[in-house]
Amino acid sequence: MATYNKDQIKNLLELDKKHYLHPTSSLRQHQESGPKRIFTEGKGVYLTDVNGGRYIDALASLWNVNVGHGRKELGEAASEQMGKLAYSSSFNNFSHESVIRLSEKLANITPGDLNVFFYTSGGSESNDTAFKLVRHYWKLKGQPQKKKIIGLERAYHGITIGATSATGIQQFQNMTNSLAPDFLHAAAHKTNCELGDKNDPDFARSIRGIIENEGPEKIAAVIVEPIQGAGGVIIPPNGYLEAVRELCDQYGILMIADEVICGFGRTGKMFGVDHWNVIPDVMCMAKGITSGYIPLGAVAITERLRDSLAEVSDDVLFHGFTYSGHPAACAVALKNIEIIEKENLPAHAGKMEKELKKGFEYLTENHSLVTKSRAKGLIGAFELFEDREKGIPFKPEKMAAQKLVEECLSRGLIVRAVTFGGTNIIALSPPLIINKEEIEKVISIFSDAIQEVEKSLK
Ligand code: PLP
Repeated sequence: MATYNKDQIKNLLELDKKHYLHPTSSLRQHQESGPKRIFTEGKGVYLTDVNGGRYIDALASLWNVNVGHGRKELGEAASEQMGKLAYSSSFNNFSHESVIRLSEKLANITPGDLNVFFYTSGGSESNDTAFKLVRHYWKLKGQPQKKKIIGLERAYHGITIGATSATGIQQFQNMTNSLAPDFLHAAAHKTNCELGDKNDPDFARSIRGIIENEGPEKIAAVIVEPIQGAGGVIIPPNGYLEAVRELCDQYGILMIADEVICGFGRTGKMFGVDHWNVIPDVMCMAKGITSGYIPLGAVAITERLRDSLAEVSDDVLFHGFTYSGHPAACAVALKNIEIIEKENLPAHAGKMEKELKKGFEYLTENHSLVTKSRAKGLIGAFELFEDREKGIPFKPEKMAAQKLVEECLSRGLIVRAVTFGGTNIIALSPPLIINKEEIEKVISIFSDAIQEVEKSLK
């Protein structure tokens, strides 16, 4: 393990504070106290910091390190590819072997006829690509007015302008006073409405209500996360995604699944939509595609969609990132998917779901503020309530979830607080290689941390 002396640590802290603008972080806190932790190494489910502190990375960093930290094979795959061909562009129909092999592999594991892939550097770019592709499709079909995109409340789709506009969490939209036009938001998971129940008081806010109100001739696509992640691990009821698929078919609207978190085994199947046998027209991926070892995102479209684009257009597809199909990123993705398949990680995540739920039950039985726990595969959450029987939430100024997350951190456990809209949700999504003993350790740290935090919340 690399060791740092006091002066080296002080120097890193000062330089970080002086020169680094952290993503999605409190600037005030950074300027007052500097970075919270400086990590140096990762192995399995553990991260180590400059002080030698060890942490269970129970969020897989940003829901992405699916195969766990410290996989030498992934570095070797990048190194081998870089030694052969570090970079070449895919513009103008140039190609190279690792992007071709990855596309073949993805075609084998994605559902239905999602067999054609466009590459990006991450989730936001994948979603923006999806929005442009569906609009392009309708335009070429002679329906240029079909351009509105419907997303769900509490959805998170990323931070580029398009992705921010599709996101249904106010805090992300507040940063800019100029969002992209033609994005609408529907109440999440109103299965009955999507099935046609107009008596629901929320009907006008449902996807079906919005389609009928706006007119289907104006709607290009609906985008949904199979399980909402950053919004607080919100698992749809059975029948919901199927209802959205049917609705899209009924009105001639394309369905986009944002699999950026759910993809590559996270939920206990290779993709989130696989739980409900739903085949979207467009599927966006990132994160788990390389387990975060190198940036890569992808957009899958059906062969039908590609064929209709090709049929009506003899034009150039004027959309491409410099790093679309980056050779080293594709080589790492291929090796990463090989590990996921060889080690049966989706099935393992399904097995570990039971352990996680057992742990959540223990926390619920032993701590009166814990409630509403849920998990699918290795993505899970529970909530903190002041009075769970009466459904009284903690007041936001009590910062219940934030306090618990800080307490966990001080005890060597990294998890996430989701507090949008006054919630106190504790979310976790550990690397898919986590075992029973490690989950028990996570639960035991939670239990001790909750006991401590409970005192200050009374
Ligand atoms: N979509 C979902 C569901 C996500 O959770 C995220 C990131 O957390 C994104 C898109 C954005 O991905 P990126 O941060 O790689 O741009």
